[in-house]
Amino acid sequence: MSLKIYIAGQYYDKEHAKVSVYDHGLLYGDGVFEGMRSYSGKVFRLDEHLDRLWDSAKAIWLEIPTTKAELAQAVNDTLKLNGIVDGYIRLLVTRGAGTLGLDPNRTSDPQIIIITDHIALYPPEFYEQGLEIVTASTIRNHPAALSPRIKSLNYLNNILAKIEGLKAGCVEALMLNQKGEIAECTGDNIFLVKRGEVLTPPIDAGILEGITRNAVIELARGTGRTVHEIPLTRHDVYVSDECFLTGSAAEVIPVVKVDNRVIGTGQPGAITRDLIQRFHALTRE
Ligand code: PMP
Repeated sequence: MSLKIYIAGQYYDKEHAKVSVYDHGLLYGDGVFEGMRSYSGKVFRLDEHLDRLWDSAKAIWLEIPTTKAELAQAVNDTLKLNGIVDGYIRLLVTRGAGTLGLDPNRTSDPQIIIITDHIALYPPEFYEQGLEIVTASTIRNHPAALSPRIKSLNYLNNILAKIEGLKAGCVEALMLNQKGEIAECTGDNIFLVKRGEVLTPPIDAGILEGITRNAVIELARGTGRTVHEIPLTRHDVYVSDECFLTGSAAEVIPVVKVDNRVIGTGQPGAITRDLIQRFHALTRE
């Protein structure tokens, strides 16, 4: 059976799920989105994802033509219709079809799209052995130009850094901000562990406030660990005892090499492994 895609209140077979070529989501990357996970049929932190979607939309002057409650229902209905229990959900709101010019006032009908699919996870050995990443030369968007807090349909900044990573043989790449500090990876937040303390860049380093990041901070603090949200440099990464990334798709994944430098022992660290276990328990509870 073909997957059913929700577009503006209707379900379409995957092959027939289409939007206008005049949609500013396509023409300009003008729109917002969320990437979410469902575990045992329940969407992980759906309310937080919807809050972030609404904040992203507000930041770009886009009015989402529904309520959070209705959209939550639509997400759950789409999952159920497709029989997806443990899966990935991509929720988009485009600016809608307009003219060929930039003017969003000349668009109409923002399209709400819900794609539910089976999750393509990183291979298990990445979790067991840890990832190798490199720093991209492409810096993260300057917050005064396009805030990384907005999860917009325009992901070229991240894609350019991702290409740099892939060309270096890495599936993720580290992005710095305009000050040369650590920001985040192309689709994941970054954490370090140093002398038992957990460190991660603050939101004002110019990053997306990850839902998984927030869950991991809560988990670490819940076990009595100190978590500092502080500006970090590549030096801090290179001398850290442990490093890991967080994201809805990747969950919590260890990093053992950055820019060819071995992190800690070169193996996923004990605190990272503990947080992976706790995150599994949290999502599968
Ligand atoms: N940073 C960026 C740039 C991302 O695209 C993502 C994935 N949405 C994340 C961080 C992680 O956020 P979350 O934990 O909410 O998936």
